[in-house]
Amino acid sequence: MRISVITIFPELFREFLSTSLIGRAVATGDLEVSVHNLRDFTDDKHRSVDDEPYGGGGGMVMMAPPWIEAVRTVTEEESSRCILLSPQGRPLTDAKVRELAAADHHLVLVCGRYEGVDERVRMTVVDEEISVGDFVLSGGEVPAMVLIEALSRQVPGVVGQPECVEQDSFRQGLLDYPHYTRPQIVEGLPVPGVLVSGDHGAIREWRGRQAIRSTLEKRPDLLTRAVLSDEQQDWLAQIERGESEDPAAAGDLVTQAEDTDNTNSPRK
Ligand code: SAM
Repeated sequence: MRISVITIFPELFREFLSTSLIGRAVATGDLEVSVHNLRDFTDDKHRSVDDEPYGGGGGMVMMAPPWIEAVRTVTEEESSRCILLSPQGRPLTDAKVRELAAADHHLVLVCGRYEGVDERVRMTVVDEEISVGDFVLSGGEVPAMVLIEALSRQVPGVVGQPECVEQDSFRQGLLDYPHYTRPQIVEGLPVPGVLVSGDHGAIREWRGRQAIRSTLEKRPDLLTRAVLSDEQQDWLAQIERGESEDPAAAGDLVTQAEDTDNTNSPRK
């Protein structure tokens, strides 16, 4: 996957692009990210990128010519897609991330600052505006990092175990199930007994039920859109009726010092 970022603060990306999963993906070439300084596309001696707004009012506006020049310079090939990070864009979702990753375009990310970018940037070189939420940040750099990190998880090989990505929240229309690791008891709270039972069928069912339960409690809106199997619909109906789950899943106090069957080893 190839991504170009244009910003007036390229230094913000240095640590981000060299740390953890993204750092490794960049090092192996699975993820190719180039960061460009907008000021390199200015033509005055002060390398100016902003000016006062026409019509008055507070704040400064990023001027169009450096942006247009920068985007055109880094998008030399046909299959690029220019994304303006903007609170006015469509909200970023898992579906959007998957769509962008599957299209495999060279993505060019425009990081605004100040009051935003001159509208003619959007009109000339931007293909799409994306927002990371209904709030306003001071710049598009953190939203660009959010998008890069989400996209990177879709690149084969970046997340060591692909099944982890498939189990993540939103992927199947539901939230993820709860996770536990050692120690078995924390502040008097035990690991649910089923997770150390070694019964993989029971563990699968418990996780499936817990994913439904979490979604119902935290994001019921997702359930109105989720496509549930017959089994999942039964679980949902039982949870809504307040019926207790599989007895093995009841969260019995686990008294062994440590389980030895690896059933609760970390999955990521
Ligand atoms: N005046 C603009 C408005 O109200 O729509 C906000 C400008 S904001 C202070 C400066 C820049 O931060 C924007 O051009 C955009 O690149 C970025 N930004 C701020 N909030 C964002 C969000 N929720 N999603 C994506 N980008 C955002």
